[in-house]
Amino acid sequence: MKKEKKSALSVKKGVENAKTVNENSVLRFKKTKKKLLSVKEFSEGIRNGDMTVLSKAITLIESSKPEHQKKAQEIIGECIPYSGKSVRIGITGVPGVGKSTFIESLGIFLIEKGRKIAVLAIDPSSSRSGGSILGDKTRMEKLSAHKNAFIRPSPSAGTLGGVARKTAETVILCEAAGFDTVFIETVGVGQSEVAVSSMVDFFMLLMLAGAGDELQGIKRGIMETADLIVINKADGDNVKNATLAKAQYQNALHLFPPAESGWQPKVVTASAEKGTGIKEVWNLTDDYLNFTKKNNFFFEKRKLQAKMRMYETIDETLKNRFYNNPEVKRKLKEFEELILNGELSPYAAANMLLQITDS
Ligand code: GDP
Repeated sequence: MKKEKKSALSVKKGVENAKTVNENSVLRFKKTKKKLLSVKEFSEGIRNGDMTVLSKAITLIESSKPEHQKKAQEIIGECIPYSGKSVRIGITGVPGVGKSTFIESLGIFLIEKGRKIAVLAIDPSSSRSGGSILGDKTRMEKLSAHKNAFIRPSPSAGTLGGVARKTAETVILCEAAGFDTVFIETVGVGQSEVAVSSMVDFFMLLMLAGAGDELQGIKRGIMETADLIVINKADGDNVKNATLAKAQYQNALHLFPPAESGWQPKVVTASAEKGTGIKEVWNLTDDYLNFTKKNNFFFEKRKLQAKMRMYETIDETLKNRFYNNPEVKRKLKEFEELILNGELSPYAAANMLLQITDS
């Protein structure tokens, strides 16, 4: 315990397997005490698999401070040549379906096969409510204790677009740090699964038997983007229902238009808690990867994703530049008042504000 604390607060190079969770307090502490690492120290630390350095770099990505953003971009630039080699897997499903239990089970299974696992989350709800749908409880305890696993909760501030971009950038750093399997977890009740599907190779949807789709809050569109549907909690009395649900979903999927990948989405039953069906899930993931690499879809999809990322980055940067402009900040409040009092039209206000950063 004592040792962990010490290493998490230290910026010294060569700290091994430091806890990755308390980086917020770490950075706050560090900012007042020590100079930030250089870009070179960051990128070397990441490539050496130093989890503390990786954590700190991700904190820079998440920071809204322009100087942190600038440094983060430089670190990402250094890491890009070493990225791209992992399998990126998206996992979605309503709260309580068993996502964290499932990721833990599959993660341990893969670690035993010699893989290195990073788990990232996209949960924009945490920025609005202060709480998180993905939960503040200690999640994936076994996995997080493992030296070949790295678990990072969702950035706690920002719009969905911002959170998604930060997660995509975090993937690059994790890959440069040697993680060969990256899970991106999100809650399948809103828009975040669309963002996730735009940054992963393979997309899994976790469902429960016996609950109607509408009960599970899953929209048809999400089912259409899934490459694999896992009916979780297929254990005990629930096995029969799960098997029935599997057949029903299989039939439903056949009615959907064929996926662009050429892959016919599959349905399996599993028990994240008992560990059954996990091997089958991985075999199917592997089948999908082989199939889409053979027909080139895998590579084409990644190229398209990279193109989209450019536009997202431009959008985000323009927005940040605008809203961080001191004059814009000042005038925004003033104009808001004028609009509320009916003294200024919203269009005129927007135009005047936009002109501030045009010049
Ligand atoms: P999440 O909100 O989707 O991340 O769900 P959790 O992984 O936190 O699981 C929610 C609850 O379902 C917990 O009480 C788990 O113990 C339980 N659970 C998860 N997977 C299974 C499973 O395969 N079988 C059973 N019976 N319970 C499970």
